[in-house]
Amino acid sequence: MWKCPRCKRTFANRNQTHTCGLHDLESHFRDKPPEIRALYDAVLAAVLALGPVTVLPEKTRIAFHVRMSFAQVTPKMGWLDGHVVLARRLEHPRFRSIQTFSPRNHLHTFRISALADVDDDFRAWLAEAYAVGEQRHLP
Ligand SMILES: [Zn+2]
Repeated sequence: MWKCPRCKRTFANRNQTHTCGLHDLESHFRDKPPEIRALYDAVLAAVLALGPVTVLPEKTRIAFHVRMSFAQVTPKMGWLDGHVVLARRLEHPRFRSIQTFSPRNHLHTFRISALADVDDDFRAWLAEAYAVGEQRHLP
């Protein structure tokens, strides 16, 4: 048995994928059009394809966490705003800003306004961020 250190729930497998129950995931979507939930579900499916993930619904955002949070989204009325954490600066027209916190910690903000935005580029960024979340980029 494994006990999640955050929500204290127990699971059969270590780092079991689950939604940590500290805040209510549904509250992010209660006042939003159903299209926004569909965008989130597409992002979530892309995240879950990478491996075990803890989904952390927080007050203003939903974070995706392995050993550290590597991506997050904030549902808005017409789109999802979010970011991925990459170990390098990656210039791309779809990144709205890049904030550098350390040489190996760069926060890249994006906006998802259509299902087509969850494409191969986006999946590649998520995969790269997931490796950062696992801290595999560290020596
Ligand atoms: Zn938990």
